[in-house]
Amino acid sequence: MAVPLFDTATALAPLRGELHDALLRTADGGAFILGPEVGAFEQEFAGWLGARHAVGVANGTEAITIALRALGVGPGDEVVVPSFTFWASAEAIPPTGATPVFCDVDPETMCVTAETVKAALTPRTKAVIVVHLFGNVAPVAEIRRETGLPVLEDAAQAAGSTLTADGDPTHPIARPGALGDIATFSFYPSKNLGGFGDGGAITTNDDALAERVRTLRFHGSADKVDYVEIGYNSRLDELQAAVLRVQLPHLNAWAAHRAASHVRYHRAGIDELVQPPVAAPDATPAWHLYVVRSPRADELVAGLQERGIGARAYYRTPVHRQAPMAVFQPDGLADLPVTDELARTHLALPISATITEEQIAEVVGAVGDVLAG
Ligand SMILES: *Cc1c(COP(=O)(O)O)cnc(C)c1O
Repeated sequence: MAVPLFDTATALAPLRGELHDALLRTADGGAFILGPEVGAFEQEFAGWLGARHAVGVANGTEAITIALRALGVGPGDEVVVPSFTFWASAEAIPPTGATPVFCDVDPETMCVTAETVKAALTPRTKAVIVVHLFGNVAPVAEIRRETGLPVLEDAAQAAGSTLTADGDPTHPIARPGALGDIATFSFYPSKNLGGFGDGGAITTNDDALAERVRTLRFHGSADKVDYVEIGYNSRLDELQAAVLRVQLPHLNAWAAHRAASHVRYHRAGIDELVQPPVAAPDATPAWHLYVVRSPRADELVAGLQERGIGARAYYRTPVHRQAPMAVFQPDGLADLPVTDELARTHLALPISATITEEQIAEVVGAVGDVLAG
């Protein structure tokens, strides 16, 4: 039995009628930019998240650039960012005029820690980007407390993850995206909450930051008459908002399935073959990618693909080692031993909001086969 690396279609199939209606409703309404669907989605998303504001933007990458600008980041500033992440977490910094400074991650959670961030601070550090990688939850409160700097959460992979005091996911006390000063989401189709194209959002509890974000996404203007700063044309569009509104009520159930899949992988014996992901303390990750580690990662990817099992390494060359980032490291590349080790040994196994116990057993069996062969 072939098992795909991810599967968005199965979860959406029962919503086909509602999606159809939402798309036609938007087309018939004739308001395609910043109309009623985006306004309603922003309210519903903020309400679900537990944040005061959500602002829809064009994608998760521009969301980071705009959120940094709203924090006042600009030329001459430095922004600390992990290197073990999707390229865009760091790529979004130079368009503000600031310089990315790369930090290492924790070998267990694969997320930044207060220690790894502090090692990258200089007097020019203006903000910290914390990535909730693969759906795990980075220690935002601790990083804010220990650095005194504004923290931007890149929550692109963590929609639906929760942070609980008692470890009970039915008592969520907070969600990534509402832990720091400002946060960003991506609604790229394969994300935990994905549209039918590009989309993103910026969330915050700060009224002034939300206002500045709203201005920045519309050319630096609040009223389309006066242009108060150089901004962006970066809006979530109505069709995407309509699609996302149909899906949002299902996100918690999809997230719970992703979390339960981790337990199912464990029961199926994945731990005896490779190193499984490790949830941060008090976190119930809605694993976006199910990333395990093995010294034989490359062999596993090839062997699993041969057997029809989706598998791949996402960040084999970490961001700080990609050619365009050399210019920001004039004294030599950052020394990030954990990042380099994770880059070499990680691989993603199939996970989705609907992956079955049989599919997980198939994956674990195939992992065992490849390693035995
Ligand atoms: C997907 C992703 C982004 C970028 O989102 P886009 O909507 O594709 O621009 C940024 N950061 C992380 C960690 C991501 O996974």
